[in-house]
Formats: sequence, structure tokens, C-alpha cells
Amino acid sequence: MNSCNGFIFDYSKCVGCHACLVACYNENQTVPPISWRTINHFNKEKLPLLGFIHQSIACNHCIEAPCLKSCPSGAYSMDLVTGAVIHDADKCIGCKYCTWACPFDAPKYNEAKGVIEKCNFCNSRLKEGKEPACTTNCPTGALSFGTVDMDKPKGFGITQNPISPRINTVVDEVLQNIPSQNMGATGVEGYDFIQFSRKGISSSINSKAEWPLALFTFIGSIMVGWFWSGIVDQSIELPLWVFILLGSVSALISVFHLGKPLKAYLSVVNIQTSWLAREILSFGLFAATAFVALITNSFSLLIIGNIAGLLFLVCIEMVYSVVRKRYNTYIHSANTILTASAFFAFFANYYDLLLLILVIKSALFIARTAIVEIKQVPLNTFVSFLRLFLGFVLPIGIIAFNPNINYINQLLIVFILIAELIDRILYYNDIEPERPMHFEGELVVKKN
Ligand code: SF4
Ligand code: SF4
Ligand code: SF4
Repeated sequence: MNSCNGFIFDYSKCVGCHACLVACYNENQTVPPISWRTINHFNKEKLPLLGFIHQSIACNHCIEAPCLKSCPSGAYSMDLVTGAVIHDADKCIGCKYCTWACPFDAPKYNEAKGVIEKCNFCNSRLKEGKEPACTTNCPTGALSFGTVDMDKPKGFGITQNPISPRINTVVDEVLQNIPSQNMGATGVEGYDFIQFSRKGISSSINSKAEWPLALFTFIGSIMVGWFWSGIVDQSIELPLWVFILLGSVSALISVFHLGKPLKAYLSVVNIQTSWLAREILSFGLFAATAFVALITNSFSLLIIGNIAGLLFLVCIEMVYSVVRKRYNTYIHSANTILTASAFFAFFANYYDLLLLILVIKSALFIARTAIVEIKQVPLNTFVSFLRLFLGFVLPIGIIAFNPNINYINQLLIVFILIAELIDRILYYNDIEPERPMHFEGELVVKKN
């Protein structure tokens, strides 16, 4: 048996008393509202026949820890003796990327300190041969510490991603009480419609919270697309100061988005495994080589800058590979490589190519927004139509009319800029971190 130490959680014994959570506060001198352990409840409405199920969950000290791999500053490490995944707040830059990568919602962002904090497996207790405080204080034995069978299929509520969390669940039969989709046929008296739904559940990733990332990646796409156009003769000249301004603004936006802006220099430490560190490094490489190439007119630097730009965009896309998508197309309309290609086509005067990319992007946008179920907000619908009008209908009309008249050309770029920015911002409403399954929705109930 492939085994290690870890948590064992018995769904049939947990009564949701929060004793484990309070023990964690006491042991680690942490203070509410941040809690390193969380108690999730299914069926908060306490509907009969559906069960009333609780789940106590914290960091599960995954052997293939995605938080550790994603962190750009190397703030995470693993204690090879106890297996604890430890977070070092002194190395944390407060980018919150680990909160995207962890499917258990274990890393908690402390707004006041600007850094992450999380369960440390009670590592000092483990080293003394004791058990964690939370398992010791569970009165029913629902949460215990012991030998975890890593070959056992991950049970109810636990991610199926191959990250090897140190947890076994037992008595998963409670699953029988968890309806997966439509429960209209459950026969619960007094209710004519009961459905488990994720609609309306807010994600920690959304346009409002992530607008600095939206702007940084959007400006980056424009810079790369424009720089790519420099390798073809017909390119539209952009002044050097515009390039410097765009680069400076996007760099500043990305730094001040951090909880610890003064520690931004640590963001490239974990180049080995973190796509975010690679993104930041490749942006720096692109901006620096492009700047020198523009000043010196060096062809070799132009080529290096173009490759670095592509690398930067690939890294951006890989950063988003850790989150769950609410759409199911392979690429999405705000993909930065597509966006940069559109700006390349515009600046290089390749209007046929521009038209083709705008058509593809608009089709992908429709597919994305039509699929995403939370798109019930009238404002979003209006903004989505605006994006299509400015980014598809008007450009087609303008290009068909005559794109070579100067002021028409300027109008075209303004429309495309606004449409593409809307698309990029809305994209953040369509992704979400993975969270413990079945506890992330709500019951939609209609009484008869
Ligand atoms: S192992 Fe220790 S730090 Fe982690 S949740 Fe339990 S009490 Fe808190
Ligand atoms: S549970 Fe989350 S925070 Fe803990 S090791 Fe796994 S990915 Fe990292
Ligand atoms: S630097 Fe970012 S990814 Fe690393 S621990 Fe801090 S918030 Fe998480």
C-alpha cells in the first residue's frame, strides 16, 4: 500500500460543531474571520430527506502540491520528514495565485498583512510525536490523523486532480443523499422543485477583483502585437514613447496589485515550476529587448524581442491553466495570442487577416458567454452586446467601406480597443478556482 500520514474524515460522524476549527485558532493563535480550517455544510436549508452533511477541511499537504508549484516567489516548501507543506509569509508577495491553484481553498489571504496564511499541519506538534490540534479535539472522531492510503480513490467532495492530497474520506455513502442535478423527483413533501445549482455562487476570481490583471495582460497583448508588426514593411509606426508608456503603466499596475509591492523583486524566484514567475520574467525580457531594438534598429534584437513576446503570451495562458473554466471551448475569445494577432494585423495593414481574427474572436465570445450560466446579469448582457457591436459589426462595416482613410483607421482601432478590453475584463467572470465538490452550490427551492 502506498501510504503516508494525513487526515481521515468520516462524513457519518461529523456533527458540524466547529471544535476542530476552534482548536486550530487556539493552537496557532490565529484570529477570525480568517480560519485555516473550514466547515462546509450541504443542505443549509435543512430540507428533509436530503441529509444534513458537513465537511471539515483544511490544507491536505498534497504530495504534488499545486500551491507550491505555482507560487512565483518560492514561499512554499515541504518538510520532507513530516510531509507538511509550509508557507513562509516573509517570502510571500501577496499575489494570491496559490488561492487559484489550491482546490481546497486552504491558502487564506490576510488583507491586513497583505500575505497568505494557511494550515501548517501543526508541524511542531508532529515533530514532538503529537497529533494536530484539530484532530485531537474532534469530539466525535469524525476528523482523525493516521495512515492514509494514497491508492484509495479520492472520495466524496475531494478533488480528482492527481495532486495526492493526504486525506482519506470514509463512509462516502452519505453521497446517496446528495442529489447531483435535478431533484424534482425526490418526492419531498411540500416542495415542487428542488435543484442543486451553482448559479449565483460567487467566485473569488471576478472582473471586479482582477481588473489589474485584465489591464496588464491586455496592454501586454497590444505591445506584443504592435512589436510583431515591426517585422513587416507595411507596419504603422507607433512612437517610441507610446511603447515606453504602455510598458511602464502595465508594469506599475501589476506591481500595485500585489499585497507586498515592495517585494515584487521576489516574483521571479520560482522560475523552475511557476508559470507566473515565467510570465513576469518573459515580460521583462520582452520589454527590455524590444526597447533596445527600437532604439538601435537591431534586426537580431527585433527577432529576439518577437520571440520573447510570444513566450510572454504563452506564459500568460499557462498561468490560467490552474483554474476551472465555465466555458468549454478549447480557447477563448480573450486569449492573449489571438488578441496580439489582431493588433498585429491592424498595425501591419493586413485587413483580411484582421477580419478573420475578429470573426473567430466574436464566435468564441458568443460561445463563451452563451455557455456560462451566471450570465443572468442584465448589465453583463448589455456589455456583451456592446463588445460584439464594437468589435465585430462596426469593424466589418469600416473595413468594407475604406480602411485607408486616416480618421476611419483611427476610429477602427478605438472600437477594437474598447471591444477587446471589455472581452478581457469579462473573461475573469468566466473562470473560477476549483473548490470542494458538492459544497460549492446551493439548493434552489420552490415550495408548493
Ligand atoms: S493541522 Fe493544525 S494548523 Fe492545520 S487545521 Fe489542524 S489545527 Fe489547524
Ligand atoms: S491543500 Fe491546497 S494549500 Fe494545501 S498543499 Fe494542497 S494545494 Fe497546497
Ligand atoms: S507569493 Fe503569491 S502564490 Fe506565493 S504564497 Fe504568496 S500569494 Fe501565494
